[in-house]
Amino acid sequence: MNKPLDAREILIDQALLAKRLRQETSGEVMTDSASRGRYATDASIYQAMPVAVFVPKTAQDIAAALQIAAELGVPVLPRGGGTSQCGQTTGTALVIDNTKYFRNVLDLNLEKGYVEVEPGIVLDHLNLSLKQHGLWYPVDVSTAAQATIGGMAGNNSCGSRSIAYGNMVHNVLGIDAWLANGQVAQFGNYANSSGAAKELGDFVKHLAHTLQPEIEAHFPKVLRRVAGYNLDIFHPQSELPYTQDGSVNLSHLLVGSEGTLAYFKSLKLKLAPLPKHKVLGVVNFASFYKAMDSAQHIVKLGPTAVELVDRTMIDLARNNPSFKKTIETALINPSAQTPEAILLVEFSGEEQAPLLKKLTALQELMADHGLPGSVVSMPDASLQKNLWEVRKAGLNIMMSLKGDGKPVSFIEDCAVPLESLADYTQALTDVFAKYGSRGTWYAHASVGTLHVRPILDMRRDGAQKMRAVAEEASALVRKYKGAYSGEHGDGLCRGEWISWQFGPKITQALAEIKHAFDPKDLFNPGKIIDPPKMDDVSNFRFPPSYKVIPLQPALDWSAWNVQNNPVTEETTAPGTGGDPAKGLAKAVEMCNNNGHCRKFDAEVMCPSYRVTRDEKHLTRGRANTLRLALSNQLDIQDESSPLGSDAIKEVMDLCVSCKACRRECPTGVDMAKMKIEFLSAYKKRVGHSLRDLAVAYLPKYASTISSIPLLPAILNLRNHFKPLAKLQEWMMGISAQRSLPVWKGRTFWSNIQSKTSYQYSPEELSQHKGVVLFADTFNAYFEDENLQAALKVLNSAGYRVHIPQKSRHQQNQQEKSACSKEFCCGRTYLAAGMVDKAKETLRELVDHLAPYAQNNIPIIGLEPSCLFTLKDEALVMGFGERAIEVSQQAQLLEEFLAREAKAGRLDLHFQAASKPVLFHGHCHQKSFGAVSPALELLKLIPQANPQLIESSCCGMAGSFGYEAEHIEVSKQMAEASLLPSIRKAPDSWIVADGTSCRHQIADGTQKHAVHIARILAAHL
Ligand SMILES: Cc1cc2nc3c(=O)[nH]c(=O)nc-3n(C[C@H](O)[C@H](O)[C@H](O)COP(=O)(O)OP(=O)(O)OC[C@H]3O[C@@H](n4cnc5c(N)ncnc54)[C@H](O)[C@@H]3O)c2cc1C
Ligand code: SF4
Ligand code: SF4
Repeated sequence: MNKPLDAREILIDQALLAKRLRQETSGEVMTDSASRGRYATDASIYQAMPVAVFVPKTAQDIAAALQIAAELGVPVLPRGGGTSQCGQTTGTALVIDNTKYFRNVLDLNLEKGYVEVEPGIVLDHLNLSLKQHGLWYPVDVSTAAQATIGGMAGNNSCGSRSIAYGNMVHNVLGIDAWLANGQVAQFGNYANSSGAAKELGDFVKHLAHTLQPEIEAHFPKVLRRVAGYNLDIFHPQSELPYTQDGSVNLSHLLVGSEGTLAYFKSLKLKLAPLPKHKVLGVVNFASFYKAMDSAQHIVKLGPTAVELVDRTMIDLARNNPSFKKTIETALINPSAQTPEAILLVEFSGEEQAPLLKKLTALQELMADHGLPGSVVSMPDASLQKNLWEVRKAGLNIMMSLKGDGKPVSFIEDCAVPLESLADYTQALTDVFAKYGSRGTWYAHASVGTLHVRPILDMRRDGAQKMRAVAEEASALVRKYKGAYSGEHGDGLCRGEWISWQFGPKITQALAEIKHAFDPKDLFNPGKIIDPPKMDDVSNFRFPPSYKVIPLQPALDWSAWNVQNNPVTEETTAPGTGGDPAKGLAKAVEMCNNNGHCRKFDAEVMCPSYRVTRDEKHLTRGRANTLRLALSNQLDIQDESSPLGSDAIKEVMDLCVSCKACRRECPTGVDMAKMKIEFLSAYKKRVGHSLRDLAVAYLPKYASTISSIPLLPAILNLRNHFKPLAKLQEWMMGISAQRSLPVWKGRTFWSNIQSKTSYQYSPEELSQHKGVVLFADTFNAYFEDENLQAALKVLNSAGYRVHIPQKSRHQQNQQEKSACSKEFCCGRTYLAAGMVDKAKETLRELVDHLAPYAQNNIPIIGLEPSCLFTLKDEALVMGFGERAIEVSQQAQLLEEFLAREAKAGRLDLHFQAASKPVLFHGHCHQKSFGAVSPALELLKLIPQANPQLIESSCCGMAGSFGYEAEHIEVSKQMAEASLLPSIRKAPDSWIVADGTSCRHQIADGTQKHAVHIARILAAHL
């Protein structure tokens, strides 16, 4: 069995801590095992259960929390995005999360070029606010969308452009911080310092002077060295001086201290002008060694970045639909063999012309080194931006490997002088081979810091191999006079190597610094000073004792239930991975905590986090909670149903099943499918509510309601009489604030001339431009005009249309059970956790469609959530090959028409639009990359000038937005960007394919959005 997370000897009165925090602060306090478990990990291989989690609302809250913690002897661990790779953000401590409230800009001085911020502000958010002033904070870490300034300073983070701008330590001007005694000290220019900061500065100065020969002998002379404390502020050893004028800045002592010396209250940062122009030269190499050897020559041209991407990563990107097109823009010849490596060489400045000359110089340089014609010139800004995104996603692309063996970060940022880079990488590659593994190389060639992670299985022999590889890597670093810890910090992973790097005297001095700052070891104990062994399995997230509880999931997760070969990365056959949860646990464990889901920029993931900023309403928080439940690490009351427990309900409650994580999470964590598993288990435990039944069986009873005279009108009264709506809210939990879809007496089925029309065999269709049009319940019963419009468009373009309807035999069988006569995708059952019913109904549809799919007949749908159930969930329901064939043919109307148009087969002529078109993509449409076809198609309408609304989820998400307990969150999601964008464009057509999206738009803006089929039909 797994060790219970809180089995460590904690001589702490957790209850008293929580009580005092609740009484004496305004912050949020969490002590339950699931909440603490969500803060037990960062992006490393480690895990430690916090004593409690605190989310402060104000600076006073933090001051009070520090005082309470000190009085009770509870260690404190400040936390930003929790994206550290070395375990520095894990600890048995009071974890304080700065990211929800403590994230303001305090002062911006344009004249002096600095900004002062609270530590929880995210780098990208800061830079967005600076852009209007032509400035930026240039420490551009790959995790810029998640990393906080506090965390970046804590780790002394470094960006891709550190060759031009330096690391955090070169760009922090001052830090105000709480000391362990609760006092706030101002750390800045040493010469002007006073009070506690000066006293501490004097102490360190004395140590540094005593140890000057040791510092000179042991501090590596490279830009990238982040180990230990920056004792060298008084005797600078870095290639790039910490300050431009040679002065000593005491805040640099805190940079890289990993929360062990003081708690940052505010940070003053040096800003840089945003370069007006950038150009990129991508050098293609047939030899990896040559690429590494070239870096030392390329840097002499004065680039702002030289970044490596190796062949494995290029191939991984080429196999990923989101990255393929972009990565191929970097290749000299995409149809030839993939190069062994590419170097992205960036030049930036105020004028474009000199930069273009630099590109020419790069080409000449490469020709001089025997590589003429090896450079792809990329002056285009948008191409550059896309390529940088792929480079930044590099690690995440690698981490998508399925199976227990994972690329492990522990020697991945050793820094060596450039002239030794080629020999170092060659020697380390040989070390990997010796231990039956392989490394994928990428990142900062300009500064000799290449990222590389051998694939290790920490549940088996990973710890032993990790030790062996680390020993050999360290010998190489020493041989080449490099730094063992060059970017990601020390944490639990590199702490033991600090004494190796600096020797005993400096190590002792670092301990004295810690003692001077924090005599009672309050701040993040066990990091930098007195660290554990890196391979102490009791700190691992997946120790050899890790066990998953056996369970039978409702869906088929066998594709995740595999193991991999660390050298070839080939995976075994589905179902052979040995997961007692039949692949579900391994799918959940794909989350490596990189925090990419904590984003607010374009795209969708994760709508509930965007609104709440709560870790529990984040894909990562959900995956962690699931992992802990499936491995029996939570205090769950009903142990027979960990998956359906209240702890999982709490995290799944606001998941809108938007499927954004399926596409945008770099490792493909598919929380929407996991929510189906949860619902299935949960509803088995607690039973179905009246509302569940009303939603689930809608496709069954819709035909009955519409066929009884006057019944639709009677039911629609609910939308006009508030007391009725209130009564329904009280009885069923459907919000009275919402209007409900309007029932109709005449539906699509009664309106099409005869039920025998639109009935063709696959053979008939394959001879006559045939397509299948799936009439889903929502469009058939509530908005039949959409189906009519789609028919008009398809008929006008000369397609013969088959509409799936059940045969008489099927109808007769169903009438016995009072079922409707139309096929259904089963979506409403899935939303209510009735997986068996969903399988039953979806199987009928798949059976009907399979012969059409086998004849390559396109299967078209209008409602994205229904169509993508056919394309996605149908694949994990055990339907076999038929489901795959149907999935391959399933597409939205616009996907089909856009493809036909591209192939020159679409015979349609549209009239000019009288007003422009704004398009909102349904989440599932975005998840399957089906938004661009809609825009391409709309462009065929003259003067439509279609524009995409940059929006996340509309917040309606099927029945979510109708539910009384979710109405406020639903509205907030809509107000995040969708509704404001629509209000700003009163004279546009609003096009939205999702029924519930249109409903949300109507409720929130009183604007009538239409399905794309209607816009197309209206302009014929
Ligand atoms: C995919 C991936 C790519 C990465 N790329 C890079 C990269 O390009 N360059 C790079 O340098 N790193 C990189 N990292 C590592 C990590 O993202 C960075 O170190 C980042 O700056 C950490 O920020 P955070 O907000 O997540 O900090 P956290 O992990 O939350 O915290 C980091 C440290 O700072 C301390 N801390 C946080 N707030 C405070 C405070 N208020 N007072 C005192 N101490 C505090 C914490 O205790 C902890 O020790 C990468 C990580 C991943 C997963
Ligand atoms: S859910 Fe995906 S994006 Fe979020 S932390 Fe986990 S792996 Fe990263
Ligand atoms: S499905 Fe959507 S709401 Fe749910 S975790 Fe994924 S991104 Fe978040």
